[in-house]
Amino acid sequence: MKITNVELFILKSEGLYVNPEGSEEPSGPTYMGIVKVTTDAGICGYSDVETCASVAKAAIDAPKWSTEPGMECFDGLASLLIGENPLEVERLWYRMYRGSIYYGRRGVAIQAISAIDIALWDIAGKFYQQPVHILLGAKWRSKVRAYGSTLFRPRPEAMRVAVRQYLDQGFTAVKFGWGVFGKDPQLDVALVEAARSELGDRNDLLVDTGWFVERTPKEAIQVVRSLEPYRPFFIEELLHPEDYDGYRQVSEAVDTRIACGEQEATQWGFQELISRGKVDVVQPDLTRCGGFTVARKIAAMADQANILVIPHSWSSDLLTSASLHFNAFLRRASFIEFNTSEGPLSRSLVKEPLRLKDGYLDVPEGLGLGVEVDEESIRKYRIQ
Ligand code: MG
Repeated sequence: MKITNVELFILKSEGLYVNPEGSEEPSGPTYMGIVKVTTDAGICGYSDVETCASVAKAAIDAPKWSTEPGMECFDGLASLLIGENPLEVERLWYRMYRGSIYYGRRGVAIQAISAIDIALWDIAGKFYQQPVHILLGAKWRSKVRAYGSTLFRPRPEAMRVAVRQYLDQGFTAVKFGWGVFGKDPQLDVALVEAARSELGDRNDLLVDTGWFVERTPKEAIQVVRSLEPYRPFFIEELLHPEDYDGYRQVSEAVDTRIACGEQEATQWGFQELISRGKVDVVQPDLTRCGGFTVARKIAAMADQANILVIPHSWSSDLLTSASLHFNAFLRRASFIEFNTSEGPLSRSLVKEPLRLKDGYLDVPEGLGLGVEVDEESIRKYRIQ
């Protein structure tokens, strides 16, 4: 089996929107990249990628620049893969990483590599007639507890309305993030207090403070202490993702779990976050960290350091499916992040959208990623 094509399609839908006074659900991503890897065996693999899709497309479509075989270092990702055996995921990952090293390593290049890597694992699963988690080496569980992942509403009453909606949908855990959080410390506490009182004692509350709000480590510690009475399961991204020493300062000062990692990439980046940042929870996004090939290394590092891995997953059912396979492989899994928005790019890229059952999502049992991509939807939303 050989790779015959690597493509990225750019999709567009209506934008992210929250009524400033309301409790409405945000509508999800506006733009999305979908990577498709095709083989001569008639097997295709897919992944979405949350990045600047037009730049990722350029990284994939760029020509082969190197003239000497084995010396590739600034080549288009597709040119590095065409004609290769898609089952050699580990070698192909490194071929892409080194072959794009002069313009890559992080950012868009690793995000495009991540999506291609996920598509290669999807192909491998379809070839070996197994779901991806079996190829990874473990099915510790057949379902994963989901937390509803959404944006902060602007007023306490709107927070309560939102929480009631999620409880009605069956969620037993909800994460609020970004939005108005960080502009007014008193309002922040009132919003979190409202969420906790509506959730009651038995459900979990998670908080993403959003690092676009500039904080020093001591200010971050104050934020954590102000929210501690409401017992958040974790508090996420208090600081700039590369402020490793700041994360260590916060983690060492408080009892609440500190989470970070959705922006982090590669095993070397996560090593830094774990050993220097001393966070309690790492949150690799499979489409940003380097795909399954890197995620399984992160799982091993987190296991060694005895910290939690809760993958970041806030785009489509494709990424949520990939994250479910990863969660099935983790010896200790806590949650799957489930984007609650009903926007078309979140919900209509696969033929059978994922549905919550009693607060859990089932680990897909089909081959590869175990979900069937709806090519009709891709055609409908494709702009490039
Ligand atoms: Mg986040």
